[in-house]
Amino acid sequence: MVGRVNALGVHAYVWVERWSREDCRRAVWATAEAGFDLIEIPLLDPSSVDVDDTRQVLEEHGVQAACSLGLAAETDISSDDPAAVTAGRRLLDDALWATRQLGATMLTGVLYGRLGRYTEPLTTSGRTNAVATIRELCAAAAPEGITIGLEPVNRYETNGLNTAEQALRFIDDVGTDNLAVHLDTFHMNIEEADLASPVHACAERLGYVHLGESHRGALGTGTVDFPSFFAALAQAGYTGPITFESFSSAAAAPELSSTLCIWRESWTDAMAVARAATRFVHEQSAAAAARTG
Ligand code: MN
Repeated sequence: MVGRVNALGVHAYVWVERWSREDCRRAVWATAEAGFDLIEIPLLDPSSVDVDDTRQVLEEHGVQAACSLGLAAETDISSDDPAAVTAGRRLLDDALWATRQLGATMLTGVLYGRLGRYTEPLTTSGRTNAVATIRELCAAAAPEGITIGLEPVNRYETNGLNTAEQALRFIDDVGTDNLAVHLDTFHMNIEEADLASPVHACAERLGYVHLGESHRGALGTGTVDFPSFFAALAQAGYTGPITFESFSSAAAAPELSSTLCIWRESWTDAMAVARAATRFVHEQSAAAAARTG
């Protein structure tokens, strides 16, 4: 898997706090300028996104989009509260509609429950609710050619899926083809035994990747074992998007900082950290390709 088979993406929050028409222009321009192919657009509030305008800006710059979100307490489909499950289903439907309007083929994130710290384990009935709701979402997404991604995140951000194995079991229970695992190295570094075996466990069910450093700052400046991860991606023949995700209090919206505990300024120059990320990915990919032959 040498070269540019993978679309190289960047999370919109590297550039902007929200998604006004002006934010959209700035973020999509910067994405192309820094050398990325794709921008990940957050759909926490899908109705606030001017999808027609965004699609036009994406086309002007030749940038692809992927979409993501995490659910909130009042839209938690893994809840035992039917009102929350219904509200979550409605939000996911709205996000799917926006994904289609943006011309994206991936809707991913913490779609299976609330993004935030739980103080109780996931209940059996809550998991059943989440599986049923994701099954309905996948059924609606399939005719649109959209894949749904499930991003396992660390224990402080969900009680649902912390590891690739749990995500694979969830996918088996849902039983649809357009459901994929979305691995994030920041979370893997906390929850997995190593950075390679989850990639191999997922194999063709890996559909999306976040590159996050151990402190969520610049790539290559923390403790994540990126050489192992890139070698595993090359060995597995992964051809999907690889998206740089990083947060700094210099750029993150206050409510996001509170959810993800972004208390420090890891960087101030978004363009510099983004350009460094593209160089880092090319170096790591080339080194992995050279090792795997
Ligand atoms: Mn992530």
